[in-house]
Amino acid sequence: MADRSGSQSSVDITMKVTTTPEAHLAFTNLAYCSTSDLSQFAIPGTDLFLANVADSIQDGTIALNAVQRRHARVSADDMVTIARFVPPEKFDLTLLALDLQFVKKGTKNEQVDAVVLSTQLKKKFMYQVFTVGQRVTFEFHGTNYILTVDQAVVEADWNKKSGIGRGMICNDTYFVFEASNASGIKIMNQREAATRKIFKEKEFNLESLGIGGLNAEFVEIFRRAFAYRTYPLHVRNRIGAKNVKGILLYGPPGTGKTLMARQIGKMLNGKEPKIVNGPEVLSKFVGETEKNVRDLFADAENDQRTLGDDSELHVIIFDEIDAICKSRGSSRDGTGVHDSIVNQLLTKIDGVEALNNVLVIGMTNRMDMLDEALLRSGRLEVHIEIGLPDEAGRVQILHIHTKMMKENSFLAPDVNLQELAAQTKNYSGAELEGVVKSATSYALNRHLDIEDLSKPVDEENIKVTMDDFLQALRE
Ligand code: ADP
Repeated sequence: MADRSGSQSSVDITMKVTTTPEAHLAFTNLAYCSTSDLSQFAIPGTDLFLANVADSIQDGTIALNAVQRRHARVSADDMVTIARFVPPEKFDLTLLALDLQFVKKGTKNEQVDAVVLSTQLKKKFMYQVFTVGQRVTFEFHGTNYILTVDQAVVEADWNKKSGIGRGMICNDTYFVFEASNASGIKIMNQREAATRKIFKEKEFNLESLGIGGLNAEFVEIFRRAFAYRTYPLHVRNRIGAKNVKGILLYGPPGTGKTLMARQIGKMLNGKEPKIVNGPEVLSKFVGETEKNVRDLFADAENDQRTLGDDSELHVIIFDEIDAICKSRGSSRDGTGVHDSIVNQLLTKIDGVEALNNVLVIGMTNRMDMLDEALLRSGRLEVHIEIGLPDEAGRVQILHIHTKMMKENSFLAPDVNLQELAAQTKNYSGAELEGVVKSATSYALNRHLDIEDLSKPVDEENIKVTMDDFLQALRE
């Protein structure tokens, strides 16, 4: 087991080792003691935390099973020192997510609030290591529950979640609860618990998600569209806070609107959102376009009908929404098709067939072309401009798109991203990506022997240099 060099002793406590029956129930990392006040204590130099509490254990003693005693190099009746655990600054076992399954049978229709339960679990188990398969006994509102650890996710990059066997609970840990029908337990507010976590993630560096220069916009979207989602339904109802039904992202092409919309969708319900392309929804057959729009909402409609408030959120993203929602009466085809599509969409968002479980994200380069009715309160009401990146944003974007070549030592040390950012005023994210591609092509080309293309390439020595970038800029 790893030595935790982060253990520090502000107040050291000496305890006597015992082998009471509880010790046999202890999980490898978690030892039994008499009081939960010691739950953030560990035996320095080991993986052993005092996490489990049992009344039968005397004050001043710690119950260790054989495996634990061997690990801590102690025997029964020895004295051991325990100290408050302080994790090292960069602790690589930080748990990002933990899936827990209820094992204990609850009483029929017992309800457990995921938000409250998460807070309590964190309070009790902060800085403790959990391992897949481990059982955790936990008292909540006077009832003892048994949870098993189903999955532990430690990778800090949200896009590259990696499940591993174990990890440590910390402030950022996010719990996913699961209860089988047989357990009789109903989990409330799992989604609120999830969005609370997401809300914290606004401090997350968007760069790690491959989106550069848009932190302020992202935070703005969260404040305006999602802050309320971090509160439980009953609080929102009391304040009278209504769901935001739609967001419009507007600005020049290639600035990251799609990246952003996709990310928001993914963060809100954990899966790839549906993206529809405005022009593709249009059909030359009468009535077919309206049907296409209706079909897009069919899943959400079905969930709302069958699950009510428990329905998951459906995020529907319209790229080039101007193509289907032109100002009414402005289309020159005279068929009125656009008018009826706008009406169709509005019906789903706030009309007679309104759905509470959808969030529509529209994207456009031409906000001026949009039917104003679509932009009113209760519809696509949050408008966020995604503009061209400033210099700092351009550095971030260049950084993102050169990350891989840098990691694989293909980026020459003379490449100065700051300097390139200074020289690319008014470039969009997509154009900056184009510059990187073009610079790469110059470097690759240099290593080819045009006379003899069958000659093997010396791949280890390919370097994309500052000159390649400057040449790409001159194109
Ligand atoms: P939009 O939807 O605004 O037209 P996209 O999000 O489709 O633009 O951007 C196209 C591509 O350009 C992206 O897939 C990405 O590779 C690159 N790109 C654009 N903006 C950014 C950005 N802010 N950060 C990183 N890459 C970007």
